[in-house]
Amino acid sequence: MANKNKVLALTGIERHYGQGETTLSILKEANFSLEAGETVALVAPSGTGKSTLLHLAGLLEHPDAGEVWIGGTACGGLPDEKRTAIRRNSVGFVYQFHHLLPEFSALENIMMPQLIAGLSMKEASERARQLLDYMRIGHRADHRPAELSGGEQQRVAIARAVANAPLVLLADEPTGNLDPETASYVFSALEALVRQSGLSALIATHNHDLASRMDRCVTLREGKIIDYDPRKPVQP
Ligand code: ADP
Ligand code: MG
Repeated sequence: MANKNKVLALTGIERHYGQGETTLSILKEANFSLEAGETVALVAPSGTGKSTLLHLAGLLEHPDAGEVWIGGTACGGLPDEKRTAIRRNSVGFVYQFHHLLPEFSALENIMMPQLIAGLSMKEASERARQLLDYMRIGHRADHRPAELSGGEQQRVAIARAVANAPLVLLADEPTGNLDPETASYVFSALEALVRQSGLSALIATHNHDLASRMDRCVTLREGKIIDYDPRKPVQP
């Protein structure tokens, strides 16, 4: 089956929210797939279902129907422990707000997922230092999140997301909370890291310039995930 060769595939996804008497259909027979090493931007207005889609793809939620495939495995019917293991080993997540642990340093935040995955302190700290250096914040290793700027916090969050060398990186408006200049810098760092490590990535963003730097863009329309050209004028 073709989905077996994809890093991520969504097939026939349905997601509906009940709103009193009415039902809000966010995703209807939505299909999507991501090749190994491919980077895709998800560009769509607020409230159209970007976060919903990313949460489904990251196994944080179940769809009402359809299947989510990660690394060729159909994940819908798996027990929770298996889904958690796949999420930990195969998916890296970056949110709009960094969600770093406030009591821990930048270095420790990046070590954490590696320690949970069973690496030694030495291995985890070496990899965390490499990632911090790569993101050009090696000199901030011992700072706690509150002692970092917004751009630095996001660079730590990106390093943490890739610390376990996931199959796929899912990012939900990772630069949406930053000023334009910082957003561009952080996005470049993210892009370089993804390309250098051959990661696949699905990145939700409102920024058309940043989106156009990805291999491909998709948007959400009437519950479907469709290809989209960010250089064409935006429809009213
Ligand atoms: P986006 O990330 O594109 O802004 P979301 O995926 O967060 O969009 O939300 C899509 C729509 O689904 C919104 O209208 C939102 O209000 C609705 N929604 C999201 N989560 C829930 C929920 N748990 N219950 C009801 N409605 C929800
Ligand atoms: Mg959102």
